[in-house]
Amino acid sequence: MLDKVSGFVTDQVQPAESTLDAGGPQAREALNSLRAEAKARGLWALPLPLEHGGGGLGLADYFALAEAEGRSDHGPAALGSASLLDVRMLTAHASTPVREQYVGALVAGEITGCYAMTEPEVAGSDPTGILTRAERVADGWLVTGRKWFTTGAADAAYCTVLARSPKGLSSFVVPTGSPGFRVVRELPVLGAAGQYEIALEDVLVPRENLLGDEGSGLAIAGGRLALGRTLRCLRWIGQAERAYDLMCDRATSRRLGDGVLADRQLVRQHVFEALLAIRSARALTHRAAALVAEGERARVEIGLAKVAAARTLHQVVDSAVQVFGAEGLTPDTPLPMLARLGRAARILDGADELHVSATARAVLAQRS
Ligand SMILES: Cc1cc2nc3c(=O)[nH]c(=O)nc-3n(C[C@H](O)[C@H](O)[C@H](O)COP(=O)(O)OP(=O)(O)OC[C@H]3O[C@@H](n4cnc5c(N)ncnc54)[C@H](O)[C@@H]3O)c2cc1C
Repeated sequence: MLDKVSGFVTDQVQPAESTLDAGGPQAREALNSLRAEAKARGLWALPLPLEHGGGGLGLADYFALAEAEGRSDHGPAALGSASLLDVRMLTAHASTPVREQYVGALVAGEITGCYAMTEPEVAGSDPTGILTRAERVADGWLVTGRKWFTTGAADAAYCTVLARSPKGLSSFVVPTGSPGFRVVRELPVLGAAGQYEIALEDVLVPRENLLGDEGSGLAIAGGRLALGRTLRCLRWIGQAERAYDLMCDRATSRRLGDGVLADRQLVRQHVFEALLAIRSARALTHRAAALVAEGERARVEIGLAKVAAARTLHQVVDSAVQVFGAEGLTPDTPLPMLARLGRAARILDGADELHVSATARAVLAQRS
């Protein structure tokens, strides 16, 4: 299975990356044809439940594939596993009608969801400052506020919105077709499509679209983020390994003077530091993944892995660009795209500083 996933990502997904990054109708068409191919090859939705048409892999088995799948940022969407976080969240916390409406369609790839926590007016690093509010009304909730960096909002069938309600922060499943739900603008991240700012203006959300109990929004977000961060780390290591492979191939083939780049000690240093970073981040990530697969929150292990994997991707891609020279800055190589992912990795799912601070606080608290 690992060989099949790896072959699919390398031969099918990677050649389509520039079309997929550009967004729009051509990107949608390319993604749909990749999905059809993944289904035909028996590689569709591997970690999703069997009863809905997924592959039924448990987390530990799926983690063993996630690095290969994530060598392309588009791998999870093309292979149907990008909805894993939503499917698990809805299965655990949604009412029966909401589960019935969305879970099967998510696994089949007929719809996608998006997740809206971060807001323009307050620091995303501290969700207790969230301003979006939900007021209880006779037939449900009225949700009002603004969110941004809501990945995939323009194509999603629903948006899970974290909002302030009388008993604390709560999560609501908001259909994107609801009156008052609006995509305000696209926010290209270092030139790539996929991020949006959205507005919710008195959106009426049915009572049964509250996830879990009122006030449980942060706990639900925490469970989702633990798995989400672990998966991101595995994917970032896959992307770092891809940049590392490119760098080594270039170093051993590019002629310089009487030999090749790899003969130079300063080039070898780039290779050594990259290998050291990848192996260290992989060990930390596998430790976190093993605990998450057993249902542990693993805050310290995830904090270490998240910072290590994000820094590794950023550092290894930067070294690869350096070893390539000017060509590494052009779309003749995937390095500019990987550089964008590496830069964003140090901010999304919690900025480095947040994890450094929270992890150190947790280990110090264990000692007092
Ligand atoms: C590509 C991409 C996709 C994203 N997808 C989503 C999504 O789908 N849904 C969603 O809700 N959000 C999403 N985000 C938003 C992301 O989660 C936030 O950007 C992140 O949580 C940081 O919040 P912020 O941008 O408001 O930065 P802020 O919280 O304003 O932080 C700014 C800076 O302050 C510093 N800082 C923060 N905390 C600390 C601390 N404790 N100690 C010291 N310094 C600190 C850091 O340098 C940080 O970069 C995405 C972001 C990107 C780039």
